[in-house]
Amino acid sequence: MTPPLKTPHHRTDFLLAVEGLTVSFDGFRAVDDLSFYVDKDEIRVIIGPNGAGKTTVLDLICGRTKATGGSVRFKERELLSMREDQIVHLGVGRKFQNPSIYEDLSVFENLELSYPTGYTVFGALAFKRSSEVVARIEDVAETIFLKDLLSTRAAALSHGQKQWLEIGMLLIQDPELLMLDEPVAGMSVAERKQTAELLHRIIENRSVIVIEHDMNFVEDIAHKVTVLHQGKVLSEGSMATVQSDPRVVEVYLGH
Ligand code: ADP
Ligand code: MG
Repeated sequence: MTPPLKTPHHRTDFLLAVEGLTVSFDGFRAVDDLSFYVDKDEIRVIIGPNGAGKTTVLDLICGRTKATGGSVRFKERELLSMREDQIVHLGVGRKFQNPSIYEDLSVFENLELSYPTGYTVFGALAFKRSSEVVARIEDVAETIFLKDLLSTRAAALSHGQKQWLEIGMLLIQDPELLMLDEPVAGMSVAERKQTAELLHRIIENRSVIVIEHDMNFVEDIAHKVTVLHQGKVLSEGSMATVQSDPRVVEVYLGH
């Protein structure tokens, strides 16, 4: 006799457990009774057609959009009742599609401003610059390939370098879960390769959820792929598993 299937519900040690997550916009369920589970140190990629609800899922997890129902637990803490800043403080970092960096400031200053502190932005530049902070900034700059550009104005960076800088601004806060929305969109082939390397570098002691369309990139980084369609999980598993799933081919990969 085959033993009963071990469902995720028997485990409580997931870093992130999304269960029954639902949001309606004027009666339209953009995310519809969605459940998925992310392990510690996992790179999870979410793919799916435009409008599938991918960005909305990240908005719900980071508290930007309020859910209509369900549960999002991070280290067994319920996030849905928390404010955005509380969720960041717990260790969830979110990168948006368009980088929100300070164009007029240097790479160093952008990273410095993101260093976690109790000070306001106004007090920050004056009080934060200790050797510990500088060491951390240099360390992150090295990771994001910008060590030689610390004094460069952010405005002068390439599109790809700006994306890396924003990832760096999140890394400075050392989140346990990092969520990235289409990080390689608009990047050159070389920049895509470097971004994959960057994700492999930052995975240590952290989990990453990435939304991405570039299948070569997905194949390069994903431990597990979740395919979203109409706010629900259409398929989930290894890249090979979802690629050979006829439902995925029909709604997404076949186009
Ligand atoms: P994806 O990122 O997979 O392309 P989105 O999560 O951006 O999809 O959007 C999913 C659906 O929800 C789309 O139909 C979109 O128009 C709708 N939607 C997203 N945010 C809102 C909102 N704030 N109000 C109304 N509809 C929204
Ligand atoms: Mg999106």
